[in-house]
Amino acid sequence: MPWALSVPLLPEESLSSWLVRAALRQGCDPLSLTGAIWPTWRIWTRDIDREIPLVRMRPLVNASGISSAEFQKAGMRDDCEKVAGYSLLETRTWPWLLALGSRNRTRHGGQQICALCLAEDSAPYLRRHWRFAWHTGCRFHGVQLIDECPVCKAPIEPHRLSAEDQHLAQCSRCHENFRKAVCTSPLPEAFSFQVLADRVLQGDRAAFGNTSITLADWFSMASFLVGVMRRASRRPTSPLAGALLSLGIPVVNNRMPISGLAFELLPISERSALLTAVERLMSIGVEEAFRTFVAFNVKTSALFDPRKSPPVALLPMLSRLSHHPHGPHRRRVQPDHRPASERAVRASWARLKRRMKAEPTS
Ligand SMILES: [Zn+2]
Ligand SMILES: [Zn+2]
Repeated sequence: MPWALSVPLLPEESLSSWLVRAALRQGCDPLSLTGAIWPTWRIWTRDIDREIPLVRMRPLVNASGISSAEFQKAGMRDDCEKVAGYSLLETRTWPWLLALGSRNRTRHGGQQICALCLAEDSAPYLRRHWRFAWHTGCRFHGVQLIDECPVCKAPIEPHRLSAEDQHLAQCSRCHENFRKAVCTSPLPEAFSFQVLADRVLQGDRAAFGNTSITLADWFSMASFLVGVMRRASRRPTSPLAGALLSLGIPVVNNRMPISGLAFELLPISERSALLTAVERLMSIGVEEAFRTFVAFNVKTSALFDPRKSPPVALLPMLSRLSHHPHGPHRRRVQPDHRPASERAVRASWARLKRRMKAEPTS
């Protein structure tokens, strides 16, 4: 049965945003609305912004009067596959798409908002691009995005709002109005990276030194560089950190992540710190950076995990570095009662804090 009140998809609106708005507009909870459309499919335990699978589309098209082509366009799959360069499996983390870290209906994070965009909307709604992991600022307002409630620090989970809440610009736990949030400036270099990455996503190829590489190769190189920055920040006295610091790339500071979580799971502050470092390296030039690595005697093993293959575009430069820093690997025997290092303790504390953000299942 079609809904009494039609709810069009707004420009650049994400699928979860539209589903929540559609529910509130019909005067019901998001969970009740989706339960009525798909009685046997629990959509809020998955990342519904990615896509609505074609086999699930019919009841939604019938109820909303919106075509399946429009829903497909609002999903993230097409953009994410351009970025990844291959077809993405439903069960995996998608590169450069913020992960929700869902457990049942609770989440750890993964949704960002611009408070000023929401304040200007006549019907507040979430934009697709706020889900990209390289987005840290609003391109219209020049402010930093927010990825948690400023008051209670809960992740932004509009699907947990209820019918009485009426609009989605609020915290589902403490009902803080996000439109009143105090905005800060994004880190300028992280924001420049965002502008650059957005431009790359619009085209097919991206400039790389004197040549051009495919869009997917560009994002894979950027991921590789994020990994390099994380490795350098873990070993601030290593030749790699020394080389990067000599180039003025800020790899040693307290905003760098210590948790070891995938980039797509990191909070905005840590992603901003990493992207700042990557942007600075890219603006110096990857060639120049590798010349410095050679001068500081950085080994390939310092840059990446040898079990993973590095981006093709970087192979010629990687081949200039030397391999095998310590000779053949010997197994280190570690006593069971060895005290954990301070770093290991801080990393597990950061992971625990993230888990604690999600409430017990309701
Ligand atoms: Zn904005
Ligand atoms: Zn809150």
